[in-house]
Amino acid sequence: MRAVLSIGSNMDDRVKLLKTVFDEFSDDIIAASPVYSTPPWGVEDQDEFLNAVIIVDVEQTPLELLHRGQALEQAADRVRVRHWGPRTLDVDIVEIEGFSSNTDELTVPHPHAAQRAFVLIPWMAADVHATLAGQPVAGLIGMLPQADIDGIKVLGRIEEL
Ligand code: ATP
Ligand code: CA
Ligand code: CA
Repeated sequence: MRAVLSIGSNMDDRVKLLKTVFDEFSDDIIAASPVYSTPPWGVEDQDEFLNAVIIVDVEQTPLELLHRGQALEQAADRVRVRHWGPRTLDVDIVEIEGFSSNTDELTVPHPHAAQRAFVLIPWMAADVHATLAGQPVAGLIGMLPQADIDGIKVLGRIEEL
């Protein structure tokens, strides 16, 4: 099963926390974006995020993959205080090839992905031909406000940070 993960951190040692995801999926990664610095989205009075997108191929069910990401969040001592608030580590499933789901526990494709420059820009860097629900990601990026696009700054490959 091929899945697209969006990972983010805006607390503690952000690079180290993102690396825990790259390490967990090291045998499964098909493609990965560089790491980007991104302004907070939705709730803006918090620190900048680091974000990346990883494309994985795993022998797991969608819920097993979700739980694998949640275990990494727990290992990062993720505490949920405020909706869309600061977090040590967030692992979201953006899309799973040939699969969709609409429950509270797992909504795939991710409902906000099309509006998030911090998801779409890294995703296109990992897969230039990416599509979200049949729409080219490149085209979705073209529909975002320019200010959202300008806020996304590439930092470098995770191995270099
Ligand atoms: P957003 O989902 O808008 O990015 P968030 O990442 O801050 O917000 P969380 O608090 O991390 O939200 O997640 C809340 C719940 O979302 C989790 O318990 C999880 O079961 C559920 N969830 C639903 N769909 C997904 C998905 N595609 N990827 C990850 N979690 C999901
Ligand atoms: Ca999220
Ligand atoms: Ca999440």
